[in-house]
Amino acid sequence: MAINKIMVIGAGQMGGGIAQVAAQAGLEVVLNDIDQAFIDKRLAFIDKLLLRSIEKGLMDEAEKLAVTSRLIPSTDLQDAAEVDFVVEAASENMAIKEKLFRTLDEVTRPGVILASNTSSLSITEIAAGTGRPELVIGMHFMNPVPVMKLVEIIRGIATSDATYATVKALAEQLGKVPVEVNDYPGFISNRVLMPMINEAIYCIYEGVADAESIDTVMKLGMAHPMGPLTLADFIGLDTCLAIMEVLYEGFADSKYRPCPLLRKMVNAGWLGKKSGKGFFTYD
Ligand code: NAD
Repeated sequence: MAINKIMVIGAGQMGGGIAQVAAQAGLEVVLNDIDQAFIDKRLAFIDKLLLRSIEKGLMDEAEKLAVTSRLIPSTDLQDAAEVDFVVEAASENMAIKEKLFRTLDEVTRPGVILASNTSSLSITEIAAGTGRPELVIGMHFMNPVPVMKLVEIIRGIATSDATYATVKALAEQLGKVPVEVNDYPGFISNRVLMPMINEAIYCIYEGVADAESIDTVMKLGMAHPMGPLTLADFIGLDTCLAIMEVLYEGFADSKYRPCPLLRKMVNAGWLGKKSGKGFFTYD
């Protein structure tokens, strides 16, 4: 099936980025969320980013207008009936995603691929709640989507080769570099990244060093562009904890146990940049 019109579910930071990149690649994009206000806010944000591209000479006014005219707001999931592909980027919660995929399975035309941008949840489990598990797949973009090249494409146990090939081609059409991954907790990205962040937190917890020193070692010693604790603050400490829990439970292996300090900070509401306080403080 040719993919000309897609639906992106969730107008948050990831859904907004995916919608922008897809519209810039020439696709019509139905951007769905539960509240029109969330969509309006995201469209205004995309408008600002596109204006910045004009200022940098990367785009002209006519191109900007063409991109924004391809973004169609929606608060009704029934609008999925008219699209050729769906990528879900709603909140990271299995109950929400399972419900969405069940509805999408009923609403979309037969043969339409249903992708999830989940960072850690099982594609196999999401797919099992639908009548088309061979057409369900993970399409894990990185944040910020317009900047980051990588897309992990996650094959659930039932995902077909044809579905994988279509999604790989779509990722390339969006200017991204796809990497094929089988569905296990954390995929590649978070399986490797999160234990490193968790270990950096253990270093503070055990008094090895302070946050500044740990980040300096990883930046200057390992050429990481950002220290693990700054990165944790950017991702959100609640998200980091949720992903560690998925690894810990998914593998039933104590090597993934979340650091008690991470849990304590999340319980205190110290969530990183978004709450103004994490391992560092923010205005
Ligand atoms: P976010 O909180 O910024 O946005 C989520 C959006 O989904 C919100 O606008 C919310 O209103 C909407 N939503 C919730 N339930 C919905 C429903 N039933 N129907 C339609 N919309 C609904 O979250 P985000 O950071 O954009 O993350 C979205 C997804 O992308 C998650 O699965 C997350 O794990 C994944 N992800 C996040 C990052 C990241 O760095 N933030 C990176 C890769 C993947």
